[in-house]
Order: sequence, then C-alpha cells, then structure tokens
Amino acid sequence: MSYDVVVIGAGIVGAAVVHRLRQLWPEGRFLVIEKAQGPAAHQTGRNSGVIHSGIYYKPGSLKATLCAKGREQLYAFAAAENLPHERCGKLILATDPTELPRLEGLYRRGLENQIPGIQLLKPEDIPHYEPECRGVGAIYVPVTGIIDYRAVTQRLLERGGAQVVYGAEVTHLMRAPDGYRIHTSQSARFDTRYLIACAGLQADRIARLDGLRPPLRIVPFRGDYYELRPEARWKVRNLIYPLPHPTYPVLGVHLTRMTDGSVEAGPNAVFAWAREQYSRVGFSLRDTVEALTFSGTWRFFIRHWREGLAEYRRAFSKRLFWESLRRLVPSLTLEDLVPARSGIRALALTQDGQFWDDFYFVSQERSLHVLNAPSPAATAALALADAIVEKAFATWNLSISAPTVGP
Ligand SMILES: Cc1cc2nc3c(=O)[nH]c(=O)nc-3n(C[C@H](O)[C@H](O)[C@H](O)COP(=O)(O)OP(=O)(O)OC[C@H]3O[C@@H](n4cnc5c(N)ncnc54)[C@H](O)[C@@H]3O)c2cc1C
Repeated sequence: MSYDVVVIGAGIVGAAVVHRLRQLWPEGRFLVIEKAQGPAAHQTGRNSGVIHSGIYYKPGSLKATLCAKGREQLYAFAAAENLPHERCGKLILATDPTELPRLEGLYRRGLENQIPGIQLLKPEDIPHYEPECRGVGAIYVPVTGIIDYRAVTQRLLERGGAQVVYGAEVTHLMRAPDGYRIHTSQSARFDTRYLIACAGLQADRIARLDGLRPPLRIVPFRGDYYELRPEARWKVRNLIYPLPHPTYPVLGVHLTRMTDGSVEAGPNAVFAWAREQYSRVGFSLRDTVEALTFSGTWRFFIRHWREGLAEYRRAFSKRLFWESLRRLVPSLTLEDLVPARSGIRALALTQDGQFWDDFYFVSQERSLHVLNAPSPAATAALALADAIVEKAFATWNLSISAPTVGP
C-alpha cells in the first residue's frame, strides 16, 4: 500500500502532526513508523509532565509563541478527551538575595510574553502557596499545569486515525519519482508521497538519511529523577522551581507533583554516553564517537565546564542533589528522596558549541524534518504541529483546504 504522508516517530510531536493532518485531510492515508514497541518511549514518556506557561522564552521566538498557544490547545484537548491533567500553578523561587535582579528580569519577561496572572511574591507570601517553601522572593505562575504526556500521545494517535507500525526502525530513505520508498529494520518497505520526520534524539541522523546536512548535531544529556517517599509528599503542594541557570540550557532541579499524586525531584543534566539508554552507566559506542568527534560538543564543554562538572558530581551524589532541593524546601530530608527514573534530552549543538535555542524544522521538495524540538515541545505540541504542517503544505504546494488536489 502507498501512503500520502509517512510520519517517523510516535513521540508527542509525531502524534500531534498526524492529528493535525487528519483534521486538514480527512481522507488522507497516513502511516506512523516507530522503532520502539509503543508510543512515547523516549523524551515524551520520560519527561517531567509539566504544561509550561511560556515565561522563560525569548519574546517573539517560536518557543514563546507556540508554547503559549499550544498550552491552551493542550488544556482544551485534555479536557475534551478527559485525560488526567490539572492547571495547578507553580512557584519560581529566588533563594538568595543576589538572585533577586534575575527574578525581577524573569518576571518582566513573563509580562512581555503575556503570561496570564503572574505575580511577584514577597518572602512572606510564599508559604501561602507552598507552606514548606522558603525564599527571598518568588514568581507565582498560575497557568502552569501537570499532565500525563503518554496518555496525550496515545490519544492523539487514535484521533489521528493513522496506521502505526511499532518495532520498525527507519534505516534508509530512497527517493522515488513521486515520493519515497522507506526501508525499515523489519525489512518491510513503505511507499509514500510525503514524509515528516519527528525523530527526537535521532533527528539529525534521519535528516542525513534524507540527504540533508543539518547545521547541528544531537548530543544526549541525561536527566535523573528522585521521588519523594509517600510520607513526605505533603511537603510539596504543586510545582516548585529554582531560577533557571542564566546560560546553561536547563531549568534546574525542581519538585513536581505528578498526575498520579507522586512527587518527583529533578532532572539534572549530564552528558550521556548513549542517546537512548537510561541507566547511569548506559553506553553506546556509535553515540559516544559521534558526540565526541563533533567539535561543537567540545566547545560546549569548554564554555560550560563549571556547570558540567557540578552536574556530574551531583549525578553521583544523593547528598548534593538533596542540597539543591533543600534550598527550595528546607524541611526535606535526605531520607525523603528515593532514586527514580531518568530521561534523556536531545540537545542540538552547533559546530561552534552553541545550543540551538528554538524549535527548528526544515522542509524540502517532499519532506519536512523536525531537527530541534526541546522543552517545551510537549506543551507546545499541538501548536507546533499546526506550524509544521502549514510549512510542509506550503513547501509541497498542497492546498490546506483541499490537499488531495496536490501532486
Ligand atoms: C527529562 C526531560 C524532561 C522534560 N520535561 C518537559 C516538560 O515537563 N514539559 C514539556 O513541555 N517538555 C518537557 N521536555 C521536553 C519534551 O519531552 C520533548 O521536547 C518532547 O517530548 C519531544 O517530542 P518528540 O516527539 O520530538 O521526541 P520523542 O518523544 O523523543 O519521540 C521521537 C520518536 O522517534 C522515534 N524514532 C527515532 N528514530 C527513529 C527511526 N529511525 N525509526 C523509527 N522511529 C524513530 C523514537 O523511538 C521516538 O519514539 C522534557 C524532556 C526531557 C528529556
């Protein structure tokens, strides 16, 4: 059978793309090819489960605009589909007076990004929101929420009505006169007129299979989590974050209530020796060689050696992890924390060692590649999918209202 569009990757971005395609093209024949045995197996199913507000991002960037739009689309989708979620709000804390100018800067950015209802709190206001929290100031962000992204992904795939093939890794993309022949590890082949690749941690490799020379390399960064023992969950009502690091591309270890009532702490961010192995000692020769023979990785290490070293020490020390968290919630004890799961972020680095700080997708004659979809891509997925499909259709000369008349 031949398809109109094949989507590579059943993470939340691929699922949202199929969902959007179905809205625009009810009769379309769509296929999702996923190498894992189920949906959301990598970044999507291993993330923090937070619906971000959009406060952090550069005003006018794709991250800022698509996060704000996607956040509300996601709340509406979750409500309509009865999926576990809650608009519970979060606190961003300054714990040291030297952080106050940065806190105020972030608050101003939030106003510029038109984040609804944000408030700058004095120290005495903080316990009203989080009784166990202490800080010298805070921002309260009421539109932040929590959700089960695995459930969202599953439901988007169902509503997208695509056929999904699991356990099939795309290994070759052969150009044909009217599209692609896609080869997979199952030795199955699929013919399609168009292709959209949403391959997360493998995005650069899939782009290279399609003859592109992306200006970035995916370098994996692992994030480890701890969980609070059930008896200690009362210490955290909702979401408690530190101020993000000014230059290192992470939000800092935070405390997150999950939709099942558990409370997680993390994630940290350390260079990982494999793109898709989740233990602290996971190793892939191919992934390591590709990361360490790329000059951008070394330039990134040199630029951020201090933060990288601190993250590495903390990755192997429960006490250091606890000390970071205790700055937010002083009553947390070392015994409250139990080691939990890990996730791996796809950090897109340029040759000169900068991280690519916005969503990035490129289209060509019959394909579109999502090359960078970092946090808050899960929050933004529905809006991101709108933008991806719009760009793809424009490049492919497909009319949005009647795409079947295209070539
Ligand atoms: C630790 C962590 C915490 C995060 N927290 C949040 C948060 O709270 N809120 C938020 O909005 N964002 C968060 N993010 C970011 C968010 O999870 C990701 O941006 C988002 O999930 C990216 O989705 P994706 O579909 O692009 O990638 P993925 O979920 O990684 O999916 C890509 C899929 O492509 C498949 N694939 C790859 N190569 C092939 C191939 N050759 N053949 C077939 N299939 C292939 C993979 O198996 C995978 O299933 C977090 C990320 C991490 C890692």
